[in-house]
Amino acid sequence: MNKSFLVKPFLDEDYPIAEYGKGIYLYDSEGKEYIDGSSGAVTASIGHGVLEIAEVMKKQGEKVSFVYRSQFTSTPAEKLAWKLKDWAPGDVNWSFFVNSGSEATETALKVAIQYWQEKGRPTKTKILSRWMSYHGITLGALSMSGHEVRRARFVPLLEDFPTIDPPYCYRCPFDQSYPECQLKCANELERAIYRIGADNIAAFIAEPIIGASGAAVVPPDGYYEKIREICDRHEILFIADEVMTGIGRCGKPFAIDYWSVVPDIIAIGKGLSAGYTPLAATMISEKVMEPIRSGSKLIMSGHTYSANPQSTAVGLAVLEYMEKHMLVEQSEKKGNYLINQLTQLQKKYPIIGDVRGKGLLTGVEFVSNIFNKLPFSEEVNVTNAVVKKSMEKGLLVYPASAGLEGMRGDAIIVAPPLTIKKEEIDKLVSIFENVIKEIQDELQIQGYF
Ligand code: PMP
Repeated sequence: MNKSFLVKPFLDEDYPIAEYGKGIYLYDSEGKEYIDGSSGAVTASIGHGVLEIAEVMKKQGEKVSFVYRSQFTSTPAEKLAWKLKDWAPGDVNWSFFVNSGSEATETALKVAIQYWQEKGRPTKTKILSRWMSYHGITLGALSMSGHEVRRARFVPLLEDFPTIDPPYCYRCPFDQSYPECQLKCANELERAIYRIGADNIAAFIAEPIIGASGAAVVPPDGYYEKIREICDRHEILFIADEVMTGIGRCGKPFAIDYWSVVPDIIAIGKGLSAGYTPLAATMISEKVMEPIRSGSKLIMSGHTYSANPQSTAVGLAVLEYMEKHMLVEQSEKKGNYLINQLTQLQKKYPIIGDVRGKGLLTGVEFVSNIFNKLPFSEEVNVTNAVVKKSMEKGLLVYPASAGLEGMRGDAIIVAPPLTIKKEEIDKLVSIFENVIKEIQDELQIQGYF
């Protein structure tokens, strides 16, 4: 295939052609094998080529693939909403199906604003977020995100939403350590609310564990409890963006379940269909639905493909598969093992500054000096070097960023399918060790390390 009209991420680069996938493995058209150590973009959580799912797709396709949500509901959509109600915490009972994580967070934004309109508080329109975050690529979702590279071209079009610093203990923005810090990072939310005025703020949105822009940054205990308490006291909704962390990825149904906190709205995607079809959802609590149901009775959002029977049948089958194989519980156990193995590498290779995560969402941050945690300079692009060398050696890892403003760091995410076996984790870590060893040697020769 010489000429191509497919717009790929980097137009000058050659990409292998994916031919076949089974379990944690992908194969290209030349027959090369790759361990999918990142489940693509932290998506393929039940692994590739699961025949039960293919069977459900075929059966649903033979019945009906598409109906328009303004004309029909469907059994798979109804059943999936019921199942998600059982998976979700507290009173987060309602599902608004969409097709991507960006649509899920964008819908969350709209629902939050509508909620306050229905309550007679139309000035509450700003969404507070954290600068270290990624909530999606559409303009509303990007306005809530601090991802500099993805924002750069569109800044004039973005809403000027306020942000606060992240709960990033490895490089505490407040130069403090836990627990002496008394959670300054959570208290900053309250200071921001005083500055902006609670009457202008609809919601605070956060990824319970920071993904693409932090590489599995886990907040200190007590952080979300404090965030919830501050949000409640100032009448601000709390939106959990669980697009990457939800549906068992982190060893609980939702990552926020690690803390005793119930969000008002939850965005999910990725693992919901495990990559078998595009599917995402904005989950909404009874508290938020109540004034809408007794008010205008219509959520002003939606897409042509929202709640299509084909995708929701797949989502339902994925959740049933996860329950049958107890994949949420396994994610916690296997994640502990993976983090332990990666921590062993950290002891051997000083370019690894930090290993973190929960369940099978793990992050590795690279530094040029483990004592002062100085990142490598940007032109070295260690993240890219690690991703490329891993791919050469048949391992897929996900490029992330880390560090704080003015001190951008390198990091990758390791997040294999939850179905991975212990010996497969060993194989993954062994390839990763070769990659790290070679990169560290090269950086040493080039005088960067
Ligand atoms: N939120 C989070 C936390 C994400 O990780 C992502 C995707 N990386 C998104 C939203 C956007 O999802 P999508 O790419 O499906 O639009």
